[in-house]
Amino acid sequence: MEKKSGTAEGKSIQKVLVVGAGFMGSGIAQVSAQAGYQVHLMDIQAAITDRAFRDIRWSVEKLEAKGLLREPSQKVLARISPEKDLSSASKVDLVIEAALEEEELKREIFQELDRISRPETPLSTNTSSIPITRLAENTRRPERVLGLHFFGPVPLMRLVEVVKGEKTSQEIFEQGVAFVQSLGKTPVRVQRDIPGFVMNRIFSAAFSEAVDLVDQGIATPEDVDMGMRLGYGWNVGPFEIADNAGLDTCSRVGQSMKSLGASHLAPSSNLIERMVAEGRLGRKVGKGFYRYSPEGKRLPWEKK
Ligand code: NAD
Repeated sequence: MEKKSGTAEGKSIQKVLVVGAGFMGSGIAQVSAQAGYQVHLMDIQAAITDRAFRDIRWSVEKLEAKGLLREPSQKVLARISPEKDLSSASKVDLVIEAALEEEELKREIFQELDRISRPETPLSTNTSSIPITRLAENTRRPERVLGLHFFGPVPLMRLVEVVKGEKTSQEIFEQGVAFVQSLGKTPVRVQRDIPGFVMNRIFSAAFSEAVDLVDQGIATPEDVDMGMRLGYGWNVGPFEIADNAGLDTCSRVGQSMKSLGASHLAPSSNLIERMVAEGRLGRKVGKGFYRYSPEGKRLPWEKK
């Protein structure tokens, strides 16, 4: 059978388990189902898996209405099954872990996945900062562990970093590249495993400076975002990106960078932590660096 680019057809991977059904996991599940993969989507909280399913339905129906889906949305949705635990790891050909950015938690998940899944199944992580090698250490198959670092919102962003851990085999690395291409996305190959990989290191350098400048009152988030759009040609500014990603996740990534010896890539100020403590988690709760109307329209920043 002829292989179609951007689909699962004719590929050795047919079934995928996505661990964590939050902002990233739900997007990864959606694009995998759209490409024809059978997807098991697992979270420790059933309410989150339910919400992910509602979000995916909304998104694929919108794509369908715009004529951007190559088959009926029902067919895409029918490929996704919600899971309450990791037992479906034994049935799949690839695992993509997208749980919270906490090393201890991810280490435990990898240990469990290694125990449950078939020995040949590749185990990948969507971590933003933690070296793949550190997670691979908790498995008996470090040569089959790799990074698949998607960008959010996953259905819209075309880039995925494919990250090689110290022991990742060339064959598994190339399988990761082929999987990313089968989703219709473009891979960036990260050949050596360092905290934050390539794209997050570059973004974090700009973002940490931007946070420090805003916390010192030198410029507002709106002016920084506008400046990066108009002056440097970014499509969206760093604070818009942070609000979309979730400030709780940004905070965890910053802490993780610090603990991994890359403090220069985390803000010096604790502005993000103060905002998280006040419940300003970003777009998902309607307030972060910006406020958002119920329809999702962005409103100006308010520093208390
Ligand atoms: P999120 O908070 O939206 O989702 C994380 C999910 O993990 C939650 O639903 C939580 O219930 C679940 N979870 C916690 N413990 C679990 C467990 N033991 N088993 C299964 N699920 C569990 O966070 P997110 O933004 O989706 O980030 C997920 C991962 O993706 C993180 O590693 C993050 O660094 C990375 N990442 C995030 C972005 C972004 O823009 N937010 C971009 C690239 C990568």
